[in-house]
Amino acid sequence: MKEAEKIYCLKRQEMVETLKRYGIANRRVLDAFLEVPRHLFFEREAMGCAYNDGAYPIGFGQTISQPYTVAFMTTLLVERSPSGRVLEIGTGSGYQAAILGALGYSVFSMERIFELHERAKKLLSKLGFGVTCRFGDGTLGWIDEAPFDGIVVTAGAPGEPESLMCQLAERGCMVVPIGRNGSQQMTVIRKEGNDFKRELFDYFTFVPLVGREGWDETVF
Ligand code: SAH
Repeated sequence: MKEAEKIYCLKRQEMVETLKRYGIANRRVLDAFLEVPRHLFFEREAMGCAYNDGAYPIGFGQTISQPYTVAFMTTLLVERSPSGRVLEIGTGSGYQAAILGALGYSVFSMERIFELHERAKKLLSKLGFGVTCRFGDGTLGWIDEAPFDGIVVTAGAPGEPESLMCQLAERGCMVVPIGRNGSQQMTVIRKEGNDFKRELFDYFTFVPLVGREGWDETVF
């Protein structure tokens, strides 16, 4: 192993220790964080920041989410829908998609900013985590590939995304941060027959989900 790779590997172990201290305990999730080379989702000059527990700019006013946030959302999903097909809204850097791929899900990921979509698609196909990327407004979902056992929305939604809820498989669940700009409550919505069950968790900060069933772009 090259020297730089060894250092990144140690940094990943430290990141996982930090996640454990914050209460992330799911072994599958922690193993995925050890496996995915987070620094590759950063621009070269920023790779040194990749293992700090913070969000980081990826261009176009967007951010790669903080490791704790990715781990928290992933744990909510893994504990409720441990396998199957997962739709991610907000590919961004591609890191969350790669974590889901490393967990063995068939991952479908949508991004509305073309340049980010192209960059992530290239990287994800090189790394081979089994992620299919699509450019477009994710608030409308991905009809051709529905239904999904899980949906993870990685941008802040103004309310419950109805089109996405309709694309959940029976007992499938969606992890989605909901609320006004700057503070969103992590929410799990699970489809049970004709009903939806909700669970509410802590507040987080996300960039806005912009689209037909999201925020209006002109507001930002
Ligand atoms: N999951 C990403 C986080 C990126 S931040 C990662 O691991 O890096 C959220 C992303 O959601 C941004 O890239 C933003 O452009 C995207 N986004 C916002 N609204 C969207 C929409 N309606 N459809 C698809 N992507 C959207």
